[in-house]
Amino acid sequence: MRINTSEISTLIKQEIKNYQHQFVSDDVGTVISVGDGIALVYGLDKAMLGELLLFPDNIYGMVQNLEAEHVGAVLLGSDYKIKEGDTVKRTGKVVEVPVGEALIGRVVNALGQPIDGLGEIKTTKTRPIERIAPGVMTREPVKVPLQTGIKAIDSMIPIGRGQRELIIGDRQTGKTAIAIDTILNQKKTGVLCVYVAIGQKQSTVATIVEKLREKGAMDYTTVVVASASERAPLQMIAPFSGVAIAEEWMEAGKDVLIVYDDLSKHAVAYRTLALLLKRSPGREAYPGDIFYLHSRLLERACKLNKANGGGSITALPIIETQAGDRSAYIPTNVISITDGQIFLLSELFNSGQRPAVDSGQSVSRVGGSAQIKAMRQVAGSLKIELANYQELQAFSQFGSDLDAQTRRVLSHGKILMEILRQDQYQPYEVERQIFEIFVAQNRFLEELPIKEIREILANAFTNFSNNHQDLLAELMEKKIISDELKAKMLTVLKDYFKVLKAARN
Ligand code: ATP
Ligand code: MG
Repeated sequence: MRINTSEISTLIKQEIKNYQHQFVSDDVGTVISVGDGIALVYGLDKAMLGELLLFPDNIYGMVQNLEAEHVGAVLLGSDYKIKEGDTVKRTGKVVEVPVGEALIGRVVNALGQPIDGLGEIKTTKTRPIERIAPGVMTREPVKVPLQTGIKAIDSMIPIGRGQRELIIGDRQTGKTAIAIDTILNQKKTGVLCVYVAIGQKQSTVATIVEKLREKGAMDYTTVVVASASERAPLQMIAPFSGVAIAEEWMEAGKDVLIVYDDLSKHAVAYRTLALLLKRSPGREAYPGDIFYLHSRLLERACKLNKANGGGSITALPIIETQAGDRSAYIPTNVISITDGQIFLLSELFNSGQRPAVDSGQSVSRVGGSAQIKAMRQVAGSLKIELANYQELQAFSQFGSDLDAQTRRVLSHGKILMEILRQDQYQPYEVERQIFEIFVAQNRFLEELPIKEIREILANAFTNFSNNHQDLLAELMEKKIISDELKAKMLTVLKDYFKVLKAARN
């Protein structure tokens, strides 16, 4: 950035004039130029990166660029009253947000100020939004499951507490739906949730908050909003504010789930700022440090060890791809930072297979050890069976005379695809998921019309949980299907489906 020589000379003249009778402090500077939400300030030699500056009219700015002659600050409020020559004060503080119990059930902006009309947030505690992630020695491996309540995910892509699992797909493929269902499923688990909405429409966020409230999920959830109409700096800091709120709870030994919806829009906001600050653009015009921006955010998700309270933050970042292009810059960055990905496909979504999880591509690199044993027993071969099915399905579209073995794989695959379909806002308890997959894997659903399978399963589960409470209790208590339990379940199911099939004929 060049400084106009005439501007410098005015400043110098002013300084000389005032030299005798005014103490020139490092803590007070002068606006050189302002525009697009960015102010260049002269005279703040001691300013720190990320420090808050106070502009006239109580507008705050955040230092983002430290240069030889001036600092560049992004304004967190409106810039239209700020003008050249205005005085700027250092505050010596970095951006902080209020934290603590009082945040539960609230909707706040990126600075932690309430926007839900429910009055002020009664807390005295604050935390800086930027903080170095917990070190290796304070962590422990991920081993407690975080149940999403979504069959396709809990069975094949299990997530553990303290994990970072990316949800990635084109627009309108059900990305937000998966995150919201996961929040709904945390009811009664003691997991606190933070939902960070970045760059979304106000109306979309309002609908989500309404839904969370209706389902009773606001009793344990905080929503942080920097909507599309808000300034880029607020969108940029929103996820950091969210994780600061989550960290307070994690350090108190609680388990927290945080959703960043979405980091593509976050990256765009950061790119806007970087370009306005005249940082050199790199790949796809993003600044070079965008990888560091997302990695230092996601590194703050972790599982602390016992000595540090045993709390955790599980992060579900969301990324929107363009026409399925996962090799674009931001998707590849976030894929490489996270511990696994849930890929959502438009084709599946549009063909009615919802949630549209691509079982072949999706992975969870650490959650496996967190999956409960009984689930691993029934779902262990699910992924491979679906892969076989998809492969054969592509072939079978050309020929009609298929051998018996191929037909079996195809019909079983169809049943599996059907049981993995699930409506929105209806998370399943893990025992029900295990039950359904158990029934399908033991081939009780063959010869039944595909369309009716979900209803049949729902009835079967109601019957099972009403009449065989003891078996269900044993399953949940031991979390494993012993040979004995398996035999008992098979006997019950054989009778049930024999009667059912007889009644249908
Ligand atoms: P965007 O890219 O706009 O953020 P998204 O990928 O987050 O979209 P959603 O908003 O979650 O997608 O879902 C898109 C639409 O599909 C919504 O209308 C939602 O109600 C519907 N939908 C999502 N999941 C399911 C499901 N499992 N069953 C039925 N409908 C669903
Ligand atoms: Mg969405």
